[in-house]
Amino acid sequence: MTCIFCAIAAGDIPATLAYESDDVVAFHDIDPKAPVHLVVIPRAHHANAAELAAADPALAGALLTVAAQLGAEHHGGFRIVLNTGPDGGQTVDHVHAHVLAGRGFGWPPG
Ligand code: 5GP
Ligand code: ZN
Repeated sequence: MTCIFCAIAAGDIPATLAYESDDVVAFHDIDPKAPVHLVVIPRAHHANAAELAAADPALAGALLTVAAQLGAEHHGGFRIVLNTGPDGGQTVDHVHAHVLAGRGFGWPPG
């Protein structure tokens, strides 16, 4: 199985890291959609947010905690996004939270 985010977590594909612990890694998105755009992943492979929450609620909590801490470092509002499934805009099937900040965000999202 080839998973690009497992490869980033293992250090086999380079990324600009913003955070790492035993369980969670955050890196800058290669195609940023905001001035701050971080991608936060568990090191363990879970396909999406629903599967992570069902399989390992503590790890889901750790992911959210890191995402919120990274967002708060930018001293303003921020948005955490978990695209889930193809209709939800998910293109990489390893659960990830987007942390977006540094511009205004409308509601509902486009
Ligand atoms: P999704 O569309 O699945 O919610 O988000 C996947 C995100 O991963 C996209 O924003 C995309 O730009 C980012 N991405 C995909 N491949 C890479 C990569 O190799 N490196 C980095 N840093 N980001 C990636
Ligand atoms: Zn993976």
